[in-house]
Amino acid sequence: MSDQIIRVDMTHQTVATEPFPEAWKLLGGRALSARILLDECDPACDPLGPDNVLVIAPGVLAGTSAPTSGRISIGGKSPLTGGIKEANAGGNPGQDLMKLGYRCVIVKGQPADRDKRYGLEADANGVRIVEADAYKKLWNYAACEKLYEKYPKSSSFLTIGPAGEMLLTGASIACTDEKGHPTRHAARGGLGAVMGSKGLKYVAVDPGKSSVRQPAVRKDFFAYAKEYTKAYQAGPQMFKVGTSSVVPIANMLNTFPYKNRTEGQSPDAATLDGARIVESFETRGGGMHNCMTGCIVQCSNVVNDAEGNYKTSALEFETLTLLGSNCAIASWEDVADLDRLCDEVGLDTIETGAAIAILMDSGGMEWGDAEGAKRLLREVAEGTELGRAIGSGAVATGKKRKHARVPVVKGQALPAWDPRPLKATGVTYATSPMGADHTAGLIVNPGLPPEQFAQASQEVQVVNAACDSSGFCQFLQPTCEDIAKYYSLFTGDDVTREQIADIGWQCLQDEWAFNDRAGFKPEDDDLPACLREEGVGPNHAMKFDVPREIIEQARKQRFAAREELYKLKATG
Ligand code: SF4
Repeated sequence: MSDQIIRVDMTHQTVATEPFPEAWKLLGGRALSARILLDECDPACDPLGPDNVLVIAPGVLAGTSAPTSGRISIGGKSPLTGGIKEANAGGNPGQDLMKLGYRCVIVKGQPADRDKRYGLEADANGVRIVEADAYKKLWNYAACEKLYEKYPKSSSFLTIGPAGEMLLTGASIACTDEKGHPTRHAARGGLGAVMGSKGLKYVAVDPGKSSVRQPAVRKDFFAYAKEYTKAYQAGPQMFKVGTSSVVPIANMLNTFPYKNRTEGQSPDAATLDGARIVESFETRGGGMHNCMTGCIVQCSNVVNDAEGNYKTSALEFETLTLLGSNCAIASWEDVADLDRLCDEVGLDTIETGAAIAILMDSGGMEWGDAEGAKRLLREVAEGTELGRAIGSGAVATGKKRKHARVPVVKGQALPAWDPRPLKATGVTYATSPMGADHTAGLIVNPGLPPEQFAQASQEVQVVNAACDSSGFCQFLQPTCEDIAKYYSLFTGDDVTREQIADIGWQCLQDEWAFNDRAGFKPEDDDLPACLREEGVGPNHAMKFDVPREIIEQARKQRFAAREELYKLKATG
């Protein structure tokens, strides 16, 4: 059977499938989501109303035997930013949908009874909406355990926790990992609330005995994947102990924010260093694993407690920073507890950490109060007034506390990587259609001259958009050339690296067009005053002082594609 689109109407509780257009065969993930949203979603709609469109789109190569290629994009109008959003996640649902031949799921409408919960099932027998009231308010781990009692072990799930059900704008969508734990989150932008607004508690995907997707040029595809894997494994494998290993470097570069970004370095860098987590593997077990089948990078850590029992996965650099150092919480073990709670309640760890830091900065909680922070996350699930503010993110918490120092772009909290030492990354935060997002285009080069900021930011945004459309994880660091080769062998067409870069650029164009129609203005492409006025580093001299003209250049026109662009690696 040819590839299909699943269309779900939650107002009328109907599901239909239709053929995936041939013209879209090189579109997947983020680029596909952007195209659908621009065509089918009113940018002026209420993000939590029936007119918003939730798009679940695996990357082009998901479900194939290309290494590390099974990621999924979730898209919609963000209730956090008011603009377009793509949140990318690992886990197995992307590959499982593609093995069944489903290139995307488009969910529209809203049930009349807002108290009802539904599930969406996809398997070899088709797609169905089912009642799911029995899962109401369940935390993500309990929900997945219960789902595995109902569905075959070969299934994977997308679920929302209580935060998504309460329509909180910091809510994530969890994807189950290879072990069936809801650890991989499409976290940014509050898309969990969009899923909640559709009445969907979960999506269950059972590929059954479906095989991997078969490439057109079978022998060459498998040979290339094998050669690529070998070359990767012979290389430096820079993420082999996980992203938490960058803590010391980030701290050295003044991009390990402390106390709501009032400092760029943390006195707790040693206790939050990922090396402490790696040391714990020796006595407690846990270790590194792949969050989705077929990943050769295996950057995801599994963290156990002192008794050797599973606690959480994965404890990333971003989480150690936002829920750790930025809140002056010094122990990685406390951050692991907070990470688990965020995964359980269904919250973005970046947005939530930023919100807690704002609460602390405004005097609402002591700096470093780890137990208070844990209590607060439980309060999110209970729906207390303060809990709802924290679960709604940095801006909502700033408003509740009447606190002006709120480091966000387009309403979304800044990730760990700080735009004051890394100014070109700041240009990405300002211009990305997503708001502040390190996966949109991170540039860890503090010495880059200002005249190169715009071009460097634009190019990495193009490559990352292309990567997030392919299904590859950014940590594999594929280039446009790599993606072109895989697409050529998979489709049997001669796909060029220029086409891949064009897909990335067109994706950004579609997303910017959506945001313009949603009402964003050029002045929204900027960083908050606190980052322009307050510095980090020696004498607090590192400020974000990039002129507006440079920021505007990054999205105004496309820089001439150069050889370097095609060799640029996606980063994350
Ligand atoms: S590289 Fe890491 S985040 Fe990416 S798919 Fe593999 S384990 Fe998951």
